Amino acid sequence: MKIEVRALSKYFGSVEAVSNVSFTVKEGELLGLLGPSGSGKTTVLRMIAGLESPSSGDIFIDHVRVNDLSVQQRNIGFVFQHYALFKHMTVADNVAFGLSIKKWAKREIHQRVADLLQLMGLPGLGGRYPHQLSGGQRQRVAIARALAPRPSVLLLDEPFGAVDAQVRQELREWLIRLHDELAVTSLFVTHDQEEAMEVSNRLIVFSKGRLEQIGSPAEVYEDPATEFVARFIGSMNIVEAEVKQGVAHVAGLEFPAPDFPDTQRIQIGFRPYYIKLSEDTTHFRLQARVRHVYFLGVAYRVEIETESGLILRSRMNKEEFRQCRFEVGQPVSYAITHFRILPQDHGTPSPAMGIPDSPLTP
Ligand code: ATP
Repeated sequence: MKIEVRALSKYFGSVEAVSNVSFTVKEGELLGLLGPSGSGKTTVLRMIAGLESPSSGDIFIDHVRVNDLSVQQRNIGFVFQHYALFKHMTVADNVAFGLSIKKWAKREIHQRVADLLQLMGLPGLGGRYPHQLSGGQRQRVAIARALAPRPSVLLLDEPFGAVDAQVRQELREWLIRLHDELAVTSLFVTHDQEEAMEVSNRLIVFSKGRLEQIGSPAEVYEDPATEFVARFIGSMNIVEAEVKQGVAHVAGLEFPAPDFPDTQRIQIGFRPYYIKLSEDTTHFRLQARVRHVYFLGVAYRVEIETESGLILRSRMNKEEFRQCRFEVGQPVSYAITHFRILPQDHGTPSPAMGIPDSPLTP
């Protein structure tokens, strides 16, 4: 493994910004750190970089404990959203900056800069100044500058936060290709879940300084370890139900919960695409009315209100929608085809389960 973080905590005065966090980053991996604002992502990154010292815990890079090493000794490249390029230097001089400090020979610097500008899709732009570049090009120069001294680890903190949506998308795809090519072990901070899912090999979800879950994007999405993750990643309908004789009940819905004792309250989650709707009110047993229809570009979200007043979100592709053309106020029947029982946050995890055919289907 390349980076190991063990029981890392950080206090700023009485604020615990990072709380007992442990994880490893594999050699060559691109790991995303995801979480809401203030969840501690940047602080974790800054501690790995050596810009902040941990209150407790250890950081290892290539099995060497680096807690006491300076930023320079750690051989890490950084790209921050606001870590601007040097305005008075050309693109080539910006990329060469770290190499000059390390006293590389002029000829080698020249070659390295040319290679990186080529790799970054910026050939011929070495003589320009930062203000003569687009936002996307500037961020690519910033990444080239970070990569120039051949760092063993690359840290990116919201690197695409300042560019518009289309450029952001291009940069994401470009970062994935670059990473495939270079395989530098990289940590990538973002609060944008779509970006984290698309870019990362694995991701870590943080909340309030704690590590909620680490896993592949699919694992985190399909098998959320905590209620927080279930709510934060993607969209999920979550209802609280009470167990009675192995069945969890809420507002006329019933979910098998054979492992739970009577009167226990459990959180049940189901993704919007697991709610099937029919304009034929006799097709499924459960009844509702359409409250809203949202066009999402690639799909539709149809919000329904059940007979007992629950508001649920269903999602369907354009083809499915075209066949039914749901309208606001229309009565529909529905079924929930998969669900899972969500683990209790930071308590003993309950077994999460999904079933292919729920008793709610006809
Ligand atoms: P964002 O996405 O907004 O950057 P984040 O998840 O990266 O958020 P951090 O910047 O790591 O979160 O902040 C975690 C907590 O630590 C916050 O409560 C923040 O206010 C606090 N914090 C961070 N840096 C400092 C500091 N230098 N002094 C005091 N408190 C700080």
